[in-house]
Order: sequence, then C-alpha cells, then structure tokens
Amino acid sequence: MPSYIVADVGGTQIRAACFRADRQTPERVERLATQSGVMPVLDRLFSLINTIWPKNDEVIGIALALPGPVDPFQGILFGAPNIPGWTNLPLRRLMVERFHVPVVVGNDANLAALGEWKFGAGRGHHHMIYITISTGIGGGVIIDDQLLLGSRGLAAEIGHITVMPDGPLCGCGQRGHLEAIASGPSIARWAEEQISQGAASILSSQKRLSAKEISRAAQQGDPLAITALERAGTFLGVALASYLHIFNPTAVILGGGVTQSGDSLLQPLRKALREHIMTPSYLENLTLTTAALGDDVGLMGTLALAQTLRKT
Ligand code: ADP
Repeated sequence: MPSYIVADVGGTQIRAACFRADRQTPERVERLATQSGVMPVLDRLFSLINTIWPKNDEVIGIALALPGPVDPFQGILFGAPNIPGWTNLPLRRLMVERFHVPVVVGNDANLAALGEWKFGAGRGHHHMIYITISTGIGGGVIIDDQLLLGSRGLAAEIGHITVMPDGPLCGCGQRGHLEAIASGPSIARWAEEQISQGAASILSSQKRLSAKEISRAAQQGDPLAITALERAGTFLGVALASYLHIFNPTAVILGGGVTQSGDSLLQPLRKALREHIMTPSYLENLTLTTAALGDDVGLMGTLALAQTLRKT
C-alpha cells in the first residue's frame, strides 16, 4: 500500500509521520528537537524523514507544515520567527532533490484549519474559520470547501489584524495587532504591567506570569486575572465580528492553549461578538466551538494537504 510522509516543523520540535494512503491513523510517528547540537535544522528534518521512510512501500509524496509565511505555489518559506536562518528557503526544491518524490508545503496555522475542517470540529461545514490562540494568534479560512490562500499564500493572517492603532508592539514589528493583545504572552505581559503599577492580585508575588497561571487565578476569582482574560476575550470578539462580516462562515473553531481558559475568555468573546456584529443574521446557524484534534492537529492538517497529491 502506498504511503504519505508528513512533517510538522515547529520552532521547538519536528514531528513526522508515515500514513498509509487508505488510513487516517499513522503507521509511525517520530519527533526530534528542531534545534539542538551541531546538526543544522534542515539536516535534522531530512534525517527524521529518513527514519520514518517505509521500507517496502512506495511513497506518494511528502507534505510539510512550516512555522511561518509560506508561498505554497512556489514551495518557499519566506521566514520562520523561531528558526534563525530559515529565510526565503526553497524547501520544496530542496526536499524534491533529496527524496525524489512530489512535495507540498503549507503554513502550519493554515494547515491546522484544514485539519479541523477535514477531520475535526469543522467537518461538514463549507465555510469555516479556525483561530488558534497560543504563543501567537494564527488560523485559516475555508471558503466554498477550499483553503483560502491568496495570491502568494499569505492570506488569513488573522492574528495580524489591527484592533488598537498605536497599541502594543506585535512580534511582527507592527503595533496593535490582535496577537499583541490576546495571545498567551500578551495577556501575561498586560497582567505583569498592571501588577507593576500596583494592581492587587494573588499573582503579584510572581515576577513572570503565563496565560495558564492567569487562567488558574481567574478560576479562583482573582479580579486582575478575570479582567486580563475579559480584555483578551473582548478584543477577540471584536476581531471575530469583522471576520464574520468578511467571510460569513457557519463555523468558528477556536484552538490553542489559551482557549483552555474556558468561559473566563469565551464569555467576554461571545458578548463582544454580539455587540459588534452588523446584524444577528451572521450569528444564526453559527457554530462557535473549540477545536477537536488537540496536539494532532498539525499532523492531521498536513495529511489533508498530502492527500491532495494523487498517486499517478
Ligand atoms: P504553542 O504556542 O507552542 O502552539 P500552546 O497552543 O499550548 O502552544 O499555547 C501556549 C500558550 O497557551 C501559553 O501562553 C500558555 O500560557 C497558554 N496556556 C496553556 N495552557 C493554558 C490553560 N490551561 N489556560 C490558559 N492558557 C493556557
């Protein structure tokens, strides 16, 4: 039985899997730290793929999820904030030269959207938005059963919408993006600032905070933690109203670690969404739910991309 090789390249780890063409559970999954020791990241990726390469089966092709803006048509990674030196990298060409099979590449958040749509909480929806709220904010948009890519594959950077002109600096260098306000580290940074200005909190003895700790404190009734998540949820809801105005989906899927804050984040999000929507028609028949695939979303989305490579 022919197989697909898929790899999800993150800033911290690379996960690779081999799927038989007729299955949705992998035959083999292996992982490797992305950056460690003297071996360059590209060689580490090559060696991990070699490890999972099936001994006796044909490989139809390889799909890669990459942690940065990607041109999927040219197979080029423009940059990866967490992998130094990976700039304008012609990954598809390098992979084809090394493994001699067809190769497809995509942005990891876009592919997570594809995974949730094909195998997870978005199944059956023709129009869907996926948002991951984690260390950054990213996502993907499915319109008419197609992943929205844009002219160079750069569409659907939904964390980089300006919600506060002149607001906090975003990791991308611009100001006031949603990511600079509602990502995990941004929520933590805001709470740290409030504490340094004298706000009372059970977290005030800690020098550095995380969104996870803030969410735990909110569950214990800490007013600062509740306000921090309320603020993030409100900005997420405001942004979401705009996405609904543009894309009019039937499903919005929320993923990423920060989503585990639950109602402390989601109630203000829903409230702001209702308050900022142009007409309630956008909300009728809208499914707003959390992601279903958990840690597997990267590999499953990359499998969905691999499946676009048909055996010739
Ligand atoms: P990554 O960004 O590496 O994909 P995650 O999706 O887990 O990883 O996102 C990490 C962020 O999620 C961190 O800011 C972390 O503090 C936050 N986080 C993790 N668990 C929780 C939780 N239970 N509640 C709120 N935030 C959480």
